[in-house]
Amino acid sequence: MSLLDVKNLNLGFNLSQGFKQVLYDVSFSLDKGKMLAIVGESGCGKTLTAMSILNLLPKNAEIKEGNIFFKEYNLLEKKEFQLQKIRGKNIALIPQDPMTSLNPLYTIENQIVEIIKTHRPNEKKIKEIALKSLKDVKIPNPEERLKSYPHELSGGMKQRIIIAMALACNADLIIADEPTTALDVTVQAQIMKLLKEIKETKNTAIILITHDLGLVFENADYVAVMYAGRIVEYSSKKELFENPKHPYTKALFNSIPDIIGEKLIPIEGQPPSINDSILGCPFNPRCKYVMDICTQKNPELLKNNESMVSCWLNS
Ligand code: SF4
Repeated sequence: MSLLDVKNLNLGFNLSQGFKQVLYDVSFSLDKGKMLAIVGESGCGKTLTAMSILNLLPKNAEIKEGNIFFKEYNLLEKKEFQLQKIRGKNIALIPQDPMTSLNPLYTIENQIVEIIKTHRPNEKKIKEIALKSLKDVKIPNPEERLKSYPHELSGGMKQRIIIAMALACNADLIIADEPTTALDVTVQAQIMKLLKEIKETKNTAIILITHDLGLVFENADYVAVMYAGRIVEYSSKKELFENPKHPYTKALFNSIPDIIGEKLIPIEGQPPSINDSILGCPFNPRCKYVMDICTQKNPELLKNNESMVSCWLNS
């Protein structure tokens, strides 16, 4: 049994115009010690998928169908007070912006101690655990840093503190939502190296949400490519980079700038918005391989060698 099993997740928003579906049959699984990258353009549903796991959704969001199994529980059947015990302890979130994720009024020690007390109430050596978690994320002078306030730390240091909080509670799963977007390139590399080390040494499962295929190539084990609320290609990282199959995945690769100055090819057009209703494959207005059937019926996600692909070219 996988650590996490998301099955046929269908989610939408209750708006004044009625229910608008935004996630369609999203399914994937993740084992301990593995990293799954969820990639796609802004608005494709990557963050919503991850937030569904924690049930941190906007008030008007509604999950119409699906299951999210984590260990032996179905998270969608848990009450809010039960989820509060799971969030932070078993499943930790590393948000996009470390600048606003820590409370500016409390020291780092206060904030780490609070999370340990909440999730490990019988723990006696709280200060030692807080210190060890800072050492684990390679914070220099950890004793001194415990006394610091967030404004005294750099962005990269704040992101390390947030990762340290996840380690202090021995989270089994870390959801990293574009964890390096707000950081400069060298700090970005350090944070990703740290997450990779945590995955390998502590057997932690990680979901990395990103639009950066370079980060995916260097760090992920598996990749789910999302488009318009659907997974359109799902495979091992190796297979995806060596043999991308879905036209959208290929277009993403062609649009990456590289250092040898080859001409990049942008993906023409825009992804559909919540108000657009496209018949058939949602990528059809932008796809250079579009066929008649693509504008009539959406293809299922089907096995193609070592990948799962949703495209009529695959059928
Ligand atoms: Fe393109 Fe058709 Fe495949 Fe969609 S189903 S990606 S439109 S070829």
